[in-house]
Amino acid sequence: MSKSSANSRRVIVVGAGLAGCAAALSAHENGSIVEVVESRTRGSITESETTSFEALQNLNQEGDALRLTSKYGFDIEPEAVYRGAKIYSPSGRSIDFRLLKPHGYFIRRKGKGSIDHQMIERIEKAGIEIEFGTRVKGASPDGTLTLVRGAEIIERKADLIIGADGRSTTVGMNITNPIFRNDIAIGIGLHYKGPHGFEPGIAQCWLGSELCPGEYSYVLPTEDEVTVVTTMRPHMVPKNTSYDIYLRRFLALPSIKEGLESSNLICKIFGSVPVTPGKRFGQGKILLSGESARLTDPLLGFGMKNAILSGHLAGTSTQTDDPLGYYEEMIRSLLLPDIGRRMKARGGIMDRLDDGQIERMLSMIGTVLSENDPNGFFDPKTRRRALGSGLWSLTRRGYVTETMKLIIPLMRANFSFSI
Ligand SMILES: Cc1cc2nc3c(=O)[nH]c(=O)nc-3n(C[C@H](O)[C@H](O)[C@H](O)COP(=O)(O)OP(=O)(O)OC[C@H]3O[C@@H](n4cnc5c(N)ncnc54)[C@H](O)[C@@H]3O)c2cc1C
Repeated sequence: MSKSSANSRRVIVVGAGLAGCAAALSAHENGSIVEVVESRTRGSITESETTSFEALQNLNQEGDALRLTSKYGFDIEPEAVYRGAKIYSPSGRSIDFRLLKPHGYFIRRKGKGSIDHQMIERIEKAGIEIEFGTRVKGASPDGTLTLVRGAEIIERKADLIIGADGRSTTVGMNITNPIFRNDIAIGIGLHYKGPHGFEPGIAQCWLGSELCPGEYSYVLPTEDEVTVVTTMRPHMVPKNTSYDIYLRRFLALPSIKEGLESSNLICKIFGSVPVTPGKRFGQGKILLSGESARLTDPLLGFGMKNAILSGHLAGTSTQTDDPLGYYEEMIRSLLLPDIGRRMKARGGIMDRLDDGQIERMLSMIGTVLSENDPNGFFDPKTRRRALGSGLWSLTRRGYVTETMKLIIPLMRANFSFSI
């Protein structure tokens, strides 16, 4: 599809999260006249007392997440790096791996210096105006937006609307397929400051139905802060069981309890992410990006990378002859193959395995990692060889069926190359 040098389009981006900021910047760089409307106030993003850590993951074929964001115009400064992980099986056995290179970054989502703050500053520096405290109440495919600012109701027309208003999207309400209980993962956790007993930069990931049905619980420690979260699929939680119970169980584990003894609680974390993609990415003069299009990673629930990437693509499409056609084509060719693979792995692994099978799968992964240098495994240049010999050692031990069923789909989902 060709790019046109036609008159500049007037583009309104809804939402100044990661997708919205990326969209605004690339639309601006492509010559559009861009406005951003955001329901929160600037202070609630940049001066917020509450905080939450998230991880920008590196564990997939794109390699370094920071290089990827930089490629799209965002040089992000992470708070801290993590260089290893401990993965715990349902019975508490752990696999411990350390890497020479970062395999992810700690990123703060609120407050000074957070990724959201950095993105906002970047687009303001480019001269793009953000109307904070302005909520979109309705959006029509003909380009009309209804905005609410205080007691005022405003109607505005755009040549193109980019919906980047997150999971509870108003812009995409009548465009994407509705979200049901089994389309989301819920996260509930606590964030602490001060001394703690976890190894900084080593993420912990716990599995099993007692702590996190269909999902995983995690600990993300930096030098002086730590986030403890458990995630779950609501439809896999037994009836009459509250989500809080899972967090309480996680906090009651001896190593977690001990690790948090001297820390001070800062805030509670609660939220949900879609784990199934949207079926449509726009309509008429509307394009949907990030979580409004449900472009999160179905396996881990991570959404930051795809929010930035899809926002960038939406912005790039603004100066083409057919923005929606171009955007859909880009999403289908660049994002959906990976999402599809990870969706398949979720269906075959997270949605299906009982605790005994998870136990066995982790023991097999432990075998592969202990016989191979984990660095070789996570390095794109040596991955193929490391994986080949790891899988070979499993099949030699008679794990042929399990290797085919469990390990190969998981590897495929994380690293896109043929085995
Ligand atoms: C507990 C939790 C932990 C997570 N951890 C990770 C992680 O470790 N790694 C990772 O990659 N992802 C993680 N995610 C997911 C990640 O946060 C999202 O996928 C990502 O933020 C999506 O970006 P977005 O720009 O699409 O949406 P958002 O970041 O949600 O931004 C949407 C913006 O639109 C604004 N808005 C909403 N409605 C309106 C409206 N009607 N009018 C105007 N403005 C509006 C909002 O105020 C917001 O600023 C986590 C999510 C949760 C809930």
